[in-house]
Amino acid sequence: MSCEDLICASCAGPVVEARCPACQSARAQVHHHSGGLTLPVIAMLLLAALALAVMLQVAH
Ligand SMILES: [Zn+2]
Repeated sequence: MSCEDLICASCAGPVVEARCPACQSARAQVHHHSGGLTLPVIAMLLLAALALAVMLQVAH
């Protein structure tokens, strides 16, 4: 089961977006069980992607 399919009961948003603490804990739990990426790794990847996007914008 992927956390992308879950809707948060607290903020009614996709759990994958982690809009509230309930989402964050739920997402962390899912990833913990699946043995996938951890939250710090995801955050780092997001920051890297964001930095890359900004650099591309500046280049153009
Ligand atoms: Zn939520």
